Amino acid sequence: MRYNAQVEYHESMNPNEASTVNPQERNDHLAATLRTLRNERGWSLDRAARETGVSKAMLGQIERGESSPTVATLWKIATGFATSLSTFLEPVPPAAEGGHLFRSADALRTQPGNGGMLVAPLFPYEARFGFEVFELTLPPGYERLSEAHEPGVTESVLVVRGTMEVLVEESWIALGEGEAVRFPADRPHGYRNPSAEPAVFHNLIHYARTPDPTRSI
Ligand code: MN
Repeated sequence: MRYNAQVEYHESMNPNEASTVNPQERNDHLAATLRTLRNERGWSLDRAARETGVSKAMLGQIERGESSPTVATLWKIATGFATSLSTFLEPVPPAAEGGHLFRSADALRTQPGNGGMLVAPLFPYEARFGFEVFELTLPPGYERLSEAHEPGVTESVLVVRGTMEVLVEESWIALGEGEAVRFPADRPHGYRNPSAEPAVFHNLIHYARTPDPTRSI
């Protein structure tokens, strides 16, 4: 039953096809962003591998646009470069006339690296705001343990649909629809969905650092 529910769900969502951002464009953006960050810091591939914990071979593949890494790998790179996750997913969207920014999770939802979790960067990181907002979908049975993000990062998890659990300070906290938890994410944490239905939540990730004006990203 559980297996069928998961397959049906994935087929109905078609995350990588439904997205308006095509996979090669995503890879090209990721490749260009990683090269830019590495040049700005003057880091060799060896140094970048040491700072991020991602292998030199994998970083090289990403820079050539040949790899679609999972969210777990993207987070390691973001943390190593002290930058946001959404920086790697798409360019900062221009604000529409009138200064508002309209976004649709249905148009943005993808499954990076076929890692299971669906990701829609609703509000990508902008230095002037210091935060990013994702809609994240955990398939039934999914569990992800996350390494500590950079110092001062806070996450606010708000459940939109279904039920899920968040690992904070070594305890799993159960959350239902309309429930939310904020926690320091500069230490190990995790997300899991022990239920038989997808869990959808918004994750507001706040970065405490002061933006460095000498960096473009
Ligand atoms: Mn996290």
